[in-house]
Amino acid sequence: IPVDPFDIVIFGGTGDLSRRKLLPALFHRWLDGQIPETSCIVGTARSEMDTKAYRQMAKEACEAASGDNWDSKEWARFEKLIHYVSIDATQEDADWATLKSFLTLDDARPCVFYLATSPRLYVQICEALGKAGLAEENMRVVLEKPIGTDLESAKAINDGVAKVYAERQVFRIDHYLGKETVQNLMVLRFANMLFEPIWSRNYVDHVQITVAEDLGLEGRADYYDKSGALRDMVQNHMLQLLCLTAMEPPNKLEDDDVRTEKIKVLSALVPISGDSAKKLTVRGQYKAGVKDGKPVKGYLDELSSDADSATETFVAIKASIDNWRWSGVPFYLRTGKRMSHRHSDIVIQFKPTPHSIFGEGYESANRLVIRLQPDEGVRLFVQIKEPGPGGLRVKSLPLNLSYAESFTVRYPDAYERLLMDVVRGNLSLFMRKDEVEAAWTWVDGLIEAWEQSGDRPENYSAGSDGPLAAAMMMDRDGRAWWEGS
Ligand code: NAP
Repeated sequence: IPVDPFDIVIFGGTGDLSRRKLLPALFHRWLDGQIPETSCIVGTARSEMDTKAYRQMAKEACEAASGDNWDSKEWARFEKLIHYVSIDATQEDADWATLKSFLTLDDARPCVFYLATSPRLYVQICEALGKAGLAEENMRVVLEKPIGTDLESAKAINDGVAKVYAERQVFRIDHYLGKETVQNLMVLRFANMLFEPIWSRNYVDHVQITVAEDLGLEGRADYYDKSGALRDMVQNHMLQLLCLTAMEPPNKLEDDDVRTEKIKVLSALVPISGDSAKKLTVRGQYKAGVKDGKPVKGYLDELSSDADSATETFVAIKASIDNWRWSGVPFYLRTGKRMSHRHSDIVIQFKPTPHSIFGEGYESANRLVIRLQPDEGVRLFVQIKEPGPGGLRVKSLPLNLSYAESFTVRYPDAYERLLMDVVRGNLSLFMRKDEVEAAWTWVDGLIEAWEQSGDRPENYSAGSDGPLAAAMMMDRDGRAWWEGS
C-alpha cells in the first residue's frame, strides 16, 4: 500500500549507514510502488557536492545493494526525488534556507529528519532544526542507536531532543525490531492458541537468547573499543528480544500498547550488582584463533600491535525477571564476536515430562527455537518414536518451518519496514524514552559491578563458542547452550 507523499532529510547522508541501508531501503520501497513520486529525499552532510554528484553516490550505493536485480530504468525515475545540500550541523549559519526550499512544508505532509550522524550531534541538530522552524506537528525525528553510552548521556540526549520535539515525534530506531523474524515472534505468540498457555514458569524451564557473530571488528575498532559487547548488543538489541519474548499480550498492536508491555519487562529485570555479577555474568575477549582453517588475529592485535584493552567482545548473562509469569525462570543472554558461526536464536526450553513411561536415556523436554539469522525459521523439537523393531526408542526431532522454503518472496530489509513506519507515524516498533533509560539503568549497574571487581575479561579463541566460563555457567545449572546447526 503506497504511503502518502512525504519529505525525508537524511543527516549524515554520505555516511556508511545511509549508503548501505537507508538509500537502498528507500529505493526498494520505490520499486515496490510504496513511495509516491511527489515525495522528496534530501541528503545532507558537511561534504561539498552538488545534487548530481550525490545522486551518483546514491546510485552506486543502491546498485551495490541490489546486485543482479539492479533496475536502471526505475533508478532514472527514482533519482529525480533526491537532492543534496551541504550542512555543517554544528554551525549556526548553516544553509537551513536551502534545505527548507526543498521541503513542501505542508501541515498535512509528513516530514522526517533522519539523524544518521554521530549521537554527539543529535541535540545540536534538533536545536538547529527547531530554530529553523522545522519542528512542527507534521515533523518527525529519527534517532539511530546508540542513544548515549550510559543512563546520564542517554538522558541528556532525550532531554535535549524533548526541548524541540514532543515524544510522539521521536522515533528511536532499533533495526532488530524491523526484522521479519522478530516481528514473527509476536505473531507466533499472539496469533496462535498453542503457545500462550504454556509460555510461563509453569512449563518453561529457561530461555536462551544468543546473538553470535563470526566477524571481528571490521573497521569499527574506535567505536567498538569504547563500547564493548554489553553496550553494543545487549543494551539495545538483546534486551528488545528479551522484552518481546517475555512481555504480556498487549491490548493492541499500535503505538504505546506494545511499548508499555516492553517497559514492564525491563522494570522487572532483577539488577545485577556487586558480587552477584561474578556468578551471573561472564565477560570474554577473543585471542588469536582459527576460522575456516585460516588463522585470525586476536582482538588486541586487531586494535593495534601494542594495544591493551579490557573491552569485552563476549558477554553471557543469567538474567531474571521478577514478575508473576517468569519468577524462577532464568533468561540466559549471550553475544560475542569471532564465534564459531554466525547465528541468532531465541530458544524456549520447556520442562521435561513429569514421568517417563519409555525408560531412561532420552530427552523428554520440548524446545522451541526461533532462528533470527542466518536461515530464518522456527523449529519445535518434539519427541517421536525412532522407526525399527529394536525396542521403543524415543528421538527428539524438529517440526521445521523454514522461511526460505515457505515464502519465495524477497525479504525486505529491516530499514524498509521501519522507514515506512516513520512516514506513517507508527511508533510501535520504536523505543520510548523511558524504555531506553530503563535499559541503561540495568546495564549501568552491571558495568559498575564489573568496574568494581577490577577483573579482566577471560580469553577465548577466535572461532570458538566463547570462554569456558560461559559453558560452566550453564553447566552449574545443569543446562547447556543451544549451538544450533
Ligand atoms: P559515518 O559513516 O561516520 O557517517 C557520519 C555522517 O555524518 C557522514 O555523512 C558525515 O559526513 C556526517 N557528519 C559528520 N559530522 C557532521 C556535521 N558536523 N554536520 C553534518 N554532518 C556531519 O557513520 P555511520 O556508520 O553512517 O553511522 C551513523 C549513525 O548511525 C551513528 O550514530 C551510528 O552509531 C549509527 N549506526 C550505524 C550503523 C551502520 O551500520 N553504519 C548501524 C547502526 C547504527 P561529512 O563528514 O561529509 O560531514
